[in-house]
Amino acid sequence: MRIIIQFPEGLKAKALEEAERLEAQGHEVFLSASPCYGACDLCLDEARHVKADKIIHFGHAEFMKVQSPVKLEYVPYFSELDWKMAGELVERAASMLHEIKAKKVALVFPVQHLKSAGRVKERLEAAGLKVLMKKGGAHTQHRGQVLGCDVEAGKVKEADAVLYFGGGKFHPLGLPSSKPVLVADPHLGDAYWITDEIKRLEKKKQGSMLAASKAKTFGILVSTKCGQINLNGARMAKRMLEKKGKKAAILVANELNPIALQNFMSFEAYINTACPRINEDTESYGKPIVNLADLKRLLELMV
Ligand code: SF4
Repeated sequence: MRIIIQFPEGLKAKALEEAERLEAQGHEVFLSASPCYGACDLCLDEARHVKADKIIHFGHAEFMKVQSPVKLEYVPYFSELDWKMAGELVERAASMLHEIKAKKVALVFPVQHLKSAGRVKERLEAAGLKVLMKKGGAHTQHRGQVLGCDVEAGKVKEADAVLYFGGGKFHPLGLPSSKPVLVADPHLGDAYWITDEIKRLEKKKQGSMLAASKAKTFGILVSTKCGQINLNGARMAKRMLEKKGKKAAILVANELNPIALQNFMSFEAYINTACPRINEDTESYGKPIVNLADLKRLLELMV
């Protein structure tokens, strides 16, 4: 079989080992060298060009059903943890939650820590906390699982606080600041509150919205990545902006990035229909970016 394998950035170091394993089984193997940020981003084009029979997508759970002539296999990556260190970390997180008098906590994690979630829950319960694990939106598979673009599992009405168990700030920064958010990072062995940082990001997005409300010309960003493409949303945004007397054009690319867009100088602001986390990077793009989900609010702000 001819197979193309795709790894997210953090797992590309494992690519050669996996290619050798599949070649030893008699397969012809290619590695996708395009950037890959999530399971929304399958290497369908590369697979078509090399006439692959199958794509193996490492590191993420299935994001959505994709109509594909090529077979698809998802191989999520699960972190192996040192449970002496991770257990102490969860106990420290529980003490920090007790300090703010939280009794009920929404536990969320990225799919890499799915196998640890049960143990984290048990330790928190042993420390006297009630743990709530909610199923997130359509793109998640498991209770408590969050994605950068889907933090529904963290929006639990009865919870007093949210505990994110996982590495890095990307996922927890997508959570709302309406409840205190604590990060327990088993890779750093560190627990810290991230609520103030989330609030700063929310303020920045609000600033972007206000700046965009004064713009006269809009670029509407569409990504061709299979889990991001939203042409109908882009067309609707164009119509609504034009009704308000604004000029708008739809910009289509696989990879949206500041370098590719920097010479479109006639646009004063962007409406983003692709990955909703792009709008956090207004400094690099040099222009306000408003997500399609916030278009209605933006239109209300326009005079
Ligand atoms: S849309 Fe963005 S946040 Fe969601 S999976 Fe894709 S890259 Fe990640």
